[in-house]
Amino acid sequence: MYQNSKQLFERAQQSIPGGVNSPVRAFKSVGGTPVFIKSAKGAYLYDADGNQYIDYIASWGPMILGHAYEPVVRAIQEKAALSTSFGAPTELEIEMAELIKTMAPNIDLVRMVSSGTEACMSALRLARGFTGRNKFIKFEGCYHGHADAFLVKAGSGMATLSIQTVPGVTAGVSNDTLTCAYNDLQAVQQLAQQHKGEIAAIIIEPVVGNMGCIIPEPGFLEGLRKICDEEGIVFIFDEVMTGFRLAAGGAQAKLQINADLVTYGKVIGAGLPVGAFGGKREIMQHIAPLGNVYQAGTLSGNPIAMIAGYTLLNELKANPAIYEELEAKTTYLADGLEKVFIQHNIAYCINRFGSMISIHFSDHHITDFESASRADIGRFNKLFHFMLDNGVYLPPSAYESWFLNNALTYADLDKTIDLLHQFLSQ
Ligand SMILES: *Cc1c(COP(=O)(O)O)cnc(C)c1O
Repeated sequence: MYQNSKQLFERAQQSIPGGVNSPVRAFKSVGGTPVFIKSAKGAYLYDADGNQYIDYIASWGPMILGHAYEPVVRAIQEKAALSTSFGAPTELEIEMAELIKTMAPNIDLVRMVSSGTEACMSALRLARGFTGRNKFIKFEGCYHGHADAFLVKAGSGMATLSIQTVPGVTAGVSNDTLTCAYNDLQAVQQLAQQHKGEIAAIIIEPVVGNMGCIIPEPGFLEGLRKICDEEGIVFIFDEVMTGFRLAAGGAQAKLQINADLVTYGKVIGAGLPVGAFGGKREIMQHIAPLGNVYQAGTLSGNPIAMIAGYTLLNELKANPAIYEELEAKTTYLADGLEKVFIQHNIAYCINRFGSMISIHFSDHHITDFESASRADIGRFNKLFHFMLDNGVYLPPSAYESWFLNNALTYADLDKTIDLLHQFLSQ
């Protein structure tokens, strides 16, 4: 059933490290051969062997309205005919920035980049440049891209592959990265006191998607906001996953908390390489050419990437019912899976927020990295392959959130729920 994918994987490994251009795709922790995708439409992926899958990754978020979404595809085609890059400003970039500002009203200025990694590393540099401080706090199991400073106790692929320290990241860099457990406000308070006047930023996934889905406990983000205000620390929301997914205004709107700087990626590019960071003018005006915090990009604001993102964001803004529909579907899935777990008397934890969800074979709540890593990951890996073999594509790691897209039908969700039942009946 995976013959062509197996051949492609063999061939890929001759020319690409591990056969993939991003580590989680390699199926290393779940085992087996990655399936090579040929095309996708709506909620379904099609692989090199002609197998169809219900997609719960949505390219890790961007395909929130389904694959090959007509308005986006058409807009890209029309724009491409006018040349794919200029290296000079365009009106579309203004429209994109203006649109983002209407969706996240506490953003005065926003700079486009080409990935979530770039957005986060630039936001951190800016926070350091703005405060004149070097250290920052991140949370164990949160992932903010692969810039050196963030590769300390990071989630996503680093957690999946159990990489503790990254060769090539100097101690000089990682010594300025302070870490706490997610949801541990007291630990942050202690660090803030211990390093008074040294901390430039606290960066956080307001709802985590990179160690499974993890939800902030009541008061946690509010407490961080307060510490930042008291200590002159820049509060950075990494909304690369949550931005334009949890609500048109992202986690900021959904949770009613304003950050000082916000980073975007994934949904903002509708599947093209896009990221952005923005925030208060007071801070953003330190970015070059207004200020001396240098940040640049040859392809930043690329017209094809911009029209794709702009078209998608416009649809999301114009139709808030999308978020209600997505949430209703995700709740339906969560409830259905939960019933199956209860019926089979299997210990489980389902974390859901908006259209992000993860399931864990666990007899305890999953609230941080430590609790996530104590779940039965071997059993998740078996579930992954069972689902794959039966036409459901889950993230190939227990440390990743699932992302629902609005092209999913209730029949797709029912099939997924039924497959869990079959899996547990084996
Ligand atoms: C995916 C992700 C990033 C990195 O974005 P890339 O586009 O992969 O560089 C950063 N932060 C979060 C929260 C992410 O989920």
